[in-house]
Amino acid sequence: MAAESFEEDASSSVAAKEDELVISDSAQHPANLICELCRKFYNWGWVTGTGGGTSIRHGDHIFIAPSGVQKEMMQPRDIFVMDFHTRNYLRRPPSLKPSACTPLFLAAYDQGAGCCIHTHSQWAVLVTLLVERDLGKDACFEIECIEQIKGVPKGKGKQGNLGYYDRLRIPIIENTAHEEDLKDTLEGAIKKYPDAYAVLVRRHGIYIWGDNVVKAKTLCESLDYIFQLAVEMRKQKLLWAKPQTTWGKFQAWFESTTTTLPSGYHTQLYP
Ligand SMILES: [Zn+2]
Repeated sequence: MAAESFEEDASSSVAAKEDELVISDSAQHPANLICELCRKFYNWGWVTGTGGGTSIRHGDHIFIAPSGVQKEMMQPRDIFVMDFHTRNYLRRPPSLKPSACTPLFLAAYDQGAGCCIHTHSQWAVLVTLLVERDLGKDACFEIECIEQIKGVPKGKGKQGNLGYYDRLRIPIIENTAHEEDLKDTLEGAIKKYPDAYAVLVRRHGIYIWGDNVVKAKTLCESLDYIFQLAVEMRKQKLLWAKPQTTWGKFQAWFESTTTTLPSGYHTQLYP
């Protein structure tokens, strides 16, 4: 056999072996699931314009959607596969780029996650702007007494989900010019809020993770519902949560009395 033809045979058998990692008839195979989830997320407006990303950990393999692709048209052959322990790619589609979200997904996998979702949901972005305007840059998004809060897990190592009367807190980090540069602040937020399964990124979107695909998807849907509701509540001047401090009580009282005052009054006294 000629040396050239031997090399061709060897490289095509490597490619076939790598394809085995993502080609399966099972709808539950991570590569098929990621494509199916991305189609849904595209239709819900979360990952349009190639934004966002999705990843699943299965045993020692991490499956990751590529960067800059039309999310609704993605195929299993487009999926990257990484070894969880070595962080080396076991499969890299040659014409595609790995997701810029990868370092952030890995931060969640190091916390024990089984699935990570990143969306550019407009409701998530709006909530980050409302918190900044009304409560300041250091504040979390906080809400309570909303039924859908029951779709949010209590926290790492804790059994079950939050209850109706529990306060949901989601930290917010500032955006950066490049997605991968969010890693350090995301890890900082995870450390500061160990119960959080989600981190909002100002003017950008949200990173969420869960123990498995079902939990991550349920959380993502629950939070998006809550964010949309929160934006609409703000329009109606309804509070997201009961004030916990004297200043908060004053704010609540002031908010309920300022609808007829000139806007200058309001912004001077209500930061
Ligand atoms: Zn993004």
